[in-house]
Amino acid sequence: MTEPDLPARRGDGIDQIDTPALVLDADAFEANLQRMAQATTRLGIRLRPHAKAHKCPEIARRQIALGAIGICCQKVSEAEVFVNAGVEDVLVTNQIVGARKIWRLVQLARRARVGVLADEAGNVLALGAEALLQETDLDVYIEIEVGMGRCGVAPGAPAVALACAIAAQPRLRLAGLHCYQGAAQHLRSAAERSAAIAQAGQLADESRRALEAAGFSIPVITGAGTGTFPLERDSGIYNELQPGSYVFMDGDYARNQAANWDIGLAQSLYVLSSVMSRPNASRAVVDAGLKALSVDSGVPTVTGCRGAEYVRASDEHGVLQLAPGTALAAGARVWLVPGHCDPTANLYDWLVVLRGNVVEDIWPIAARGMLR
Ligand SMILES: *Cc1c(COP(=O)(O)O)cnc(C)c1O
Repeated sequence: MTEPDLPARRGDGIDQIDTPALVLDADAFEANLQRMAQATTRLGIRLRPHAKAHKCPEIARRQIALGAIGICCQKVSEAEVFVNAGVEDVLVTNQIVGARKIWRLVQLARRARVGVLADEAGNVLALGAEALLQETDLDVYIEIEVGMGRCGVAPGAPAVALACAIAAQPRLRLAGLHCYQGAAQHLRSAAERSAAIAQAGQLADESRRALEAAGFSIPVITGAGTGTFPLERDSGIYNELQPGSYVFMDGDYARNQAANWDIGLAQSLYVLSSVMSRPNASRAVVDAGLKALSVDSGVPTVTGCRGAEYVRASDEHGVLQLAPGTALAAGARVWLVPGHCDPTANLYDWLVVLRGNVVEDIWPIAARGMLR
């Protein structure tokens, strides 16, 4: 067997890390884990972090050790990685459609507690038939459209109709309502975020009442992310929270945190890049472009190097605009804060864990690329 091509080894210094590399500041990361535990599990709130942010079983283990009840995943193949790594409770926060995927999902439910979303009766029928065939119970959450404009049934009566379809399947269990208002997370003004979550809560509550009036019990109302979770937590309506990016943070959440969202989370995720070329006094080019960073929430922020600004990404190059007198020779290390952490982490096989200036560990991002 050949050795995996690791970007660093334990005990390496920063200069020995091969770039571009995805680097975790261990102290900041651990502080974020503690901060979220203080804000949720230690107050008795169920925390089910979204693992699509990190795709890393080592991180999920630490979240669960600090009180998380399990994790969320977005894809069946992603959930398989975490169950294989020993996670016992996974909610796939998505509709799972198609015979092959449903077969795999139900296979997984034989080995762990597995939940899935539904917003359509035909899909419920297919899930129920496969669960019956494989003699396994499956948790189903009704997804309510609470303002995001994506999936989900309309609140109220349509949710009751879907609950009846779930109840007709002997191996499906109506586990709760999924009421995620993801669009609210990135709104720039605090007032807009509050209004969007208040509206989502109202629609969730209206649905719960309609279901209870029809004789269904709704033990869990789940949703929320890093950008809004204290609002859902304090709503009196949600009783399970799903933040994911809080472990890392990113440029987009940092902009809100600086403006009006001081939730005490620190940047822990970086892309470490190197200067490849220094064509003139005002330009340096680093080795981290589109294939090393996600730019859907803007280009990365340069940190720890005054006078350098990342202005343009192409496939494998990042162009830095330099203020006069900025010293950045070829080979110099440049730290970048990605605009959006989730799709950036998905580009790397390994997470280099740095404690101070020393590589403490290297964790596999085992679910990266798990699209199905
Ligand atoms: C992405 C996602 C989250 C977490 O959002 P963050 O911004 O990463 O905290 C929670 N729930 C669902 C359904 C998601 O898709």
